[in-house]
Amino acid sequence: MGEFDLIARYFKRPATRAALGVGDDCALLQPAPGTQLAISSDMLVEGRHFLGTVDPRKLGHKALAVNLSDLAACGAKPLAFTLALALPRVDEDWLAAFSAGLLALADAHNCELVGGDTTQGPLNICITIFGEVPVLDGQSLALLRSGARPGDDLYVSGTLGDARVALEVFRGTLSVPAPVFEMARSRMEQPTPRVALGLALRGIASAAIDVSDGLLGDLGHILTQSGVGATVQADAASALVASRSIYRDNSTLPGQTIGIDQWRSLALAGGDDYELLFSAPASTRAQVAQAAESSQTAVTRIGTIERESGLRLVDADGRKLPNNYSSFDHFA
Ligand code: ADP
Ligand code: MG
Repeated sequence: MGEFDLIARYFKRPATRAALGVGDDCALLQPAPGTQLAISSDMLVEGRHFLGTVDPRKLGHKALAVNLSDLAACGAKPLAFTLALALPRVDEDWLAAFSAGLLALADAHNCELVGGDTTQGPLNICITIFGEVPVLDGQSLALLRSGARPGDDLYVSGTLGDARVALEVFRGTLSVPAPVFEMARSRMEQPTPRVALGLALRGIASAAIDVSDGLLGDLGHILTQSGVGATVQADAASALVASRSIYRDNSTLPGQTIGIDQWRSLALAGGDDYELLFSAPASTRAQVAQAAESSQTAVTRIGTIERESGLRLVDADGRKLPNNYSSFDHFA
């Protein structure tokens, strides 16, 4: 099968929202009047972001999910994406499963594949995604990292640390009962982008970011870009590791003992969570709760934005904890 047959079979579908989709030199998109384009790229490299043994359907899901998560963090509505793909060889079973996983998530978010590039090489997946954000009276409604203000509450959506549990099991540094691993693995391989929550938080959240490198590391970006500090309740965060309750329920099964420090570390610096971390004025608590409910996404208050710069960690009793958690850095 040649390059163009491959594209036609696995990646070309009739354009629905785009003015012109796959098949010409450029795709054509028409943003709605009064909107801005929000644009983001993410690359997934075998051995670095995923294991070669991963189910290609789940890989297709994850490749798009991490991009949708960036739109969510900006409060942008998904519109379209392009796919640049390097493949070592043409494996039709692999392509069919990859394309099915990718396009199922695309359809769920009404986000259209409008173009890309296909080449031979080590497996590498790069998606660029386009979303829409309204502009009101000349003001963009995009959620930014730079808007957090002293006194704002700090929230995170969903669950934390589970993807890292799975990663450590794969690395052989952690052993957990099978039901714990199964749930952790699904969070690692098929993250849920919080698009509906991001949209619901427009006009409410003062700053937002998606958690990809670890909660504290990504919070650091909000703090730096907003010129503020924060106190985080480590145990409010560590209670959000979903595999922790399954772990407790399976305490009689073989697996290693995981202590409170390790749960904290998984939650605060695990990475690959694709949850939204955001700040909002304390006066908007009811609106935040309403946004969580309308988007059917749990959100938990885990701290406070403060004038004093730096990041402070406290336990459930308000006692100071040392902050020696480091977030993921490809070049560190
Ligand atoms: P060009 O050489 O003009 O850049 P290509 O020959 O690379 O175009 O691609 C032909 C068409 O197929 C283009 O419309 C391109 O956007 C699309 N395309 C290529 N690879 C992919 C892919 N993996 N997924 C979706 N569309 C693709
Ligand atoms: Mg061309």
